[in-house]
Amino acid sequence: MRIVSLAGGVGGARFLRGLQAAAPDAEITVIGNTGDDITLFGLRVCPDLDTVMYTLGGGINEDQGWGRAAETFTVKEELAAYGMEPQWFGLGDRDFATHIIRSQMLAAGYPLSQVTEALCARWNPGVRLLPMSDDRTETHVVITDDTGRHAVHFQEWWVRLRASVPAEEIVLVGAADAKPAPGVLDAIEAADVVILPPSNPVVSIGTILQIPGIRPALERKPVVGVSPIINGSPVRGMADACLTAIGRETTAQSVLDLYGAPLLNGWLVAEEDATTTHPGITVEPHPLLMTTPETTRTLAHAALTLALNLANKPTHP
Ligand code: GDP
Ligand code: CA
Repeated sequence: MRIVSLAGGVGGARFLRGLQAAAPDAEITVIGNTGDDITLFGLRVCPDLDTVMYTLGGGINEDQGWGRAAETFTVKEELAAYGMEPQWFGLGDRDFATHIIRSQMLAAGYPLSQVTEALCARWNPGVRLLPMSDDRTETHVVITDDTGRHAVHFQEWWVRLRASVPAEEIVLVGAADAKPAPGVLDAIEAADVVILPPSNPVVSIGTILQIPGIRPALERKPVVGVSPIINGSPVRGMADACLTAIGRETTAQSVLDLYGAPLLNGWLVAEEDATTTHPGITVEPHPLLMTTPETTRTLAHAALTLALNLANKPTHP
C-alpha cells in the first residue's frame, strides 16, 4: 500500500508515528511544510522537516515535541554573550549540526529535497520525507504594533510574539512561482490514499496546498483529513490565531469548509463535533486526542480505514 501524508511539525509528526504503527508495511511518503523555514546566523533552518525527521528517527525531545533529545545550548549562550540577535529562537548544539550541514549542502548547489534525503540517511525515519518545494517560500505575517503596520517572519510572530498580536494577513511569500519538489507529484499520483494529519490548517497544510500543482493532484485521490479542532478548541498550540487571521472560526466545521470538496473525501471529527457536515464528504466521529502511542495508532488506523473504504467508491462528480 502506498500512502501520502502532508505534515507540519509537532502535530503532524506525532500522527505519522501512529500511521507507521497502523500500517507497518505501507510505503509512506511525507510532503513536509517548508513555509516555516528561516535563515538564522547564516544557517537555513527547516523546523517542520526536522521535527518529522527527529520524531520518526528517534532523536526528538519527547516532552517538548521539537528539538533534539539530551540537548545543550552552549552555542546559543555564546551568541547571546556577543549580543547577537535573534535570541528568541531556541537552537540547541546538536540541532546546530543539522543546520550547518543543510546550509553547506545548499550553498554547494544541492536542492533541499536532496539535502533532506542526505540528512534522513542518518535518521532512517521509515518514510520518504520530501519538502513541499525546493524553491524558497516563507510564511510572513502582517501585524500592526508601535512601529506601524509591517510584515514579520512567521517564526517571529509565532515564537517571539506567541501569536499575541493579531495577524492581519498570513502570506506564503514565493508561493506563486514555486514548483512541487521532485517526487511530490509522482508520489501523489502513485498513492492509494492520502491522509491529512491534524496539522495546522493554515500555516502547515494550508501552505503545502498553495504550491501550484499539489492541490489539483490531491483532488484526484481519496483524501481523508483529521480535524485539528476539537469542540471549538485547537487542543494544543495557537491554531485559532491563524484561523482568525484568515477570517475563519475555530471549529471542525470551518476547517472542513476550508479544505472542502473536491479536495477532501473523508473527515474525522471528535464525538462533540459529530454534526459537522459538507456535501460530498463523509464525516466520521472518532476519539481525536493523540495522548498515547495507542490512541494515536487507533486514530491513524481509523483515518486509513475510511480512506481505503472511500477509495473503492466513485469520487466526486
Ligand atoms: P504542525 O501544524 O503539524 O506543525 O503541528 P502543531 O503542533 O502546530 O499542531 C497543529 C494543530 O494540531 C494544533 O494547532 C492543534 O489544533 C492540533 N492538535 C494538537 N494536538 C492534537 C491532538 O491530540 N489531536 C488533534 N485532533 N489535534 C491536535
Ligand atoms: Ca509548523
